Formats: sequence, C-alpha cells, structure tokens
Amino acid sequence: MKRGIELINCMNPRTLPQITQCGGPNPVPERVLQALSKQTLYHYDPVFLKIYEDTTEKIKQLFRTNNDVIMMHGEAVLGLEAAAASLVAPGDLCLNLVSGPFGKGYSRHLKHAGGRVIEIEVPFNESITTQQVAKAFDEHPDIAVVSMVHSETPAGTLNPIETICPVAKAHGAVTIVDAVSSAGGMDVCPDWGIDICITSPQKCISGTPGTAVAVVSKDAWKKMLDREEPFRGSILSMLDMKERWLEGGRFPYTPSVNQVYALNEAVTLILEEGLDHVFARHERVANYCRAEIRAMGLELWPVSDEIMSTCVTAITIPEGITDEQLRGWMREKYKVMISGSHGELSGKLVRIGHMGNTATETRVMVAIDALKKTLKDIGKEEQ
Ligand SMILES: *Cc1c(COP(=O)(O)O)cnc(C)c1O
Repeated sequence: MKRGIELINCMNPRTLPQITQCGGPNPVPERVLQALSKQTLYHYDPVFLKIYEDTTEKIKQLFRTNNDVIMMHGEAVLGLEAAAASLVAPGDLCLNLVSGPFGKGYSRHLKHAGGRVIEIEVPFNESITTQQVAKAFDEHPDIAVVSMVHSETPAGTLNPIETICPVAKAHGAVTIVDAVSSAGGMDVCPDWGIDICITSPQKCISGTPGTAVAVVSKDAWKKMLDREEPFRGSILSMLDMKERWLEGGRFPYTPSVNQVYALNEAVTLILEEGLDHVFARHERVANYCRAEIRAMGLELWPVSDEIMSTCVTAITIPEGITDEQLRGWMREKYKVMISGSHGELSGKLVRIGHMGNTATETRVMVAIDALKKTLKDIGKEEQ
C-alpha cells in the first residue's frame, strides 16, 4: 500500500519526460485513457459482447480484410508465440527471415513448436530481399512456414512483405508476419498473402500494451486443423479462440475487458482520421525526421532510404558518446525520452519514434532540438 502511493507520487510532472518519442509504448490519446477507465463489465454482458464484436470489425477495416480477427489477451509476444505454437507441426521446415532482433528471436518460438528452422540472415541495417526468399524455395521446396517481421523496430528497417508473401504462397507455404510496429501506421494487408498477421495496440495504433491481435486466413486455419494433433487447450492456442469464441460464442478465458475498450477507441480514432491520411502522415513525418537528422550531420542507421521504416528513425550513435550519456542527458536536461535499441544493436543506435498520435512534426521537432542541444552540451563537457 505504502509502496504504491510512493510510486504514484514519483509520477509527477517535474520528474517525468514532457515528450516521449520512443519505439513504443508511447503516450496515448486522451480518448483512449478515458475508454480504459470506463467501468469493468462482466465479459458476457451484452454490452461488452457488442463492444468486443465492434472492435474486431474495426480491426478488419484497419487491415482492409475479411479474414478472421482474434484478440488474445496478453502482450504482443503472446500473439507471436501463439502463431508458431498453433501453426507449426512438429517436423515442419520453417524459413525464418532475420534482419533484426525480433526476427532473430522468432526462431525460438518455431523451435518450441517442433519446427526445423532454416534462416536467411542479413546485417541488421539491411532488409531481406524477395530474391533471397525465392532462392531458398528453390533449394528447399518443402518449406512449410515462412516467418518474417515487417517493421524491424529496433533497427528502423522494413522488409518487403508485400512481395515476399506471394512467393511463399506460390510455393504452398503459410506465412507469419510480425506487423506489431507497422499496423496502424502503414499499409499492412493480409490479402497480400499474410496467413497470420500479428499486431498489438502499443505501437502505431496508439493504444496501451496488453492485447495481441491476430488476423488469420483460411489457409492458416486449415493448416492448424490438418496437424496430426491440432494444438488446443492452451492460452497459446489460436484454435481455441476460433472454436470456442468465433464458432461457439464462449471465451476460452476472460478477456482483458478494459483493454478491449481502449483498443476499440484507439482503432476508432485511426478510422476517423482515415487510413490514407494516417499512412501519409507517418511518411511525411518520417521524411521530415530523416532530413533533420542528416542536416545535423548525423548518420541514419539503415543502409538506404528505401528500407527505412516510417514509424521510427534509427540514428547511428556518433563516435565518443554512449547511449546512456546521450539519452540520459536528453531526459534529465530536456525532458525528452527517446529509445535505445535491443539485442546486438544496443549501444549502436538511438531511435526517435513517430508512431500513431506521436507522428507529428511538432513533437519530432522538439525531439530533434533536444538531441541537437544534448550533443552540443556533451561536446562542451568533454572539452
Ligand atoms: C514492439 C514489438 C514487439 C513486441 O515486443 P515487446 O518487446 O514486447 O514490446 C514485437 N515485434 C516488433 C516488431 C515490435 O516492434
């Protein structure tokens, strides 16, 4: 009790950042916070059931698809792990595409499910090419599953899923796409041949962490059911969500009621703005951010503009400065919080996020200015 009060007390405006431009989560719109704080309903209350169904309908609009949408009630990683656990049959040959820490980590989930994993790995400032994937199919025609990350958030790069997925589908494989950071900020359409597309609210959707969203194709359901032992009776089971909820109208476990309200509101805000407008805004702000970074004489981390993600800008840390120094100073002195990176990229780059409602020139302008001043300050200290 005491500790709770102390923790809440330290969330005072004098110590918190005034601007957060991170790789997610980021501050969410007031309307999302208000939705989150509405009274918790019984999960079979007809009003909640209506909200739940409305949320899935709106998510379909976000993805411009008629494929099934399920929500799984845990963080994004629940959905990512569930995709592998539900889809991959023991012994399946899985092609995992690795161009950053999230792609790298995915092989674990495939292996846990009993998959035999082969990988295409490129340096973490590059992207996978469609030709590389086509070549892998020439060498291994029996690949059953291809997994990939759309926006590799820790590296600020994009993989060309819209051309990779059709190649995989043409060879009869099913695809898993981690669109956690891209959905809601750039076009991600399951009709390109994405069999399981995973996202979650805490990136470009501008919601709160706590829900995983999966858009599942007919081919994916078929593969799950064709397994010798279909995967059921687990919080990781997508089939449970299909058979109990989509077909039976009963939840396999209690959904995170308030998170559903918040996700509904977050997606409603995107649809109100209009998908094309939202995507164009992300592109415009990303271009602005890149131009400003270059104008400061700093280097962008990805090898080319074509592969840069529009929801986050990755900046190579200049020689002689550490990540802790740079971001620590920015937060302390200028009250601006930006991200470092993960895995083997930590310490090599920092990232300015521009996701969802934080993708605005005004906010990025403040982050850039704070970065400029921070570099000047640190330079002076060292003289
Ligand atoms: C944020 C994110 C996830 C979720 O990972 P967390 O570490 O739990 O935030 C997964 N994949 C991608 C590409 C992401 O950006």
